[in-house]
Amino acid sequence: MKNDVKEILYSEAQLNEKVEELAARISADYKDKDLLLIGVLKGANVFMCDLMRKIPFPIQIDFIAASSYGHSTESSGVVKILKDLDYSIEGKDVIIVEDIIDTGLTLHYLTENFNSRKPNSLEICTLLDKPERRIAKLDVKYIGYQIPDEFIVGYGIDFAERYRNLPYIATLKESVYS
Ligand code: 5GP
Repeated sequence: MKNDVKEILYSEAQLNEKVEELAARISADYKDKDLLLIGVLKGANVFMCDLMRKIPFPIQIDFIAASSYGHSTESSGVVKILKDLDYSIEGKDVIIVEDIIDTGLTLHYLTENFNSRKPNSLEICTLLDKPERRIAKLDVKYIGYQIPDEFIVGYGIDFAERYRNLPYIATLKESVYS
């Protein structure tokens, strides 16, 4: 697997520090609230697990599975809910936890969908953001890193369902795609 990696963009240590920083901001902002983290599967799985363990008070979690990419590297623009939330979010202080925002179409759809379920508040936390590629307007409160328009994998994020288990964020060699 390591032979397929072209460049490591963020190491395990860097990611750990960044997640600590985000968790500290969230903990300060939500210390008196009823916080519910909603992870967007499957990509945000690793980030979500690390983030929640750095929040020092009891919170709730849930997951939603949405897909906008098939097995390619280009967005189809179509958002499908593959697994919905298990519980109601009415009256909750919700943060959607996402791995990466690209066109913003997925989160635009999810925020509209979640807002119709009447949470007390709704914010977005993403590890990575590609602002150059944005199509849908989004208000993102917590951003780990802004990155250029490059296809990345690792730390939960896949190419054709593989490489999610790389412990860092990396680009892949051209040969992997051909
Ligand atoms: P959006 O709807 O914002 O265009 O797409 C968001 C989703 O696209 C992310 O949750 C992620 O699954 C996927 N995505 C966006 N950029 C990348 C990338 O560089 N690499 C991978 N593997 N997936 C990406």
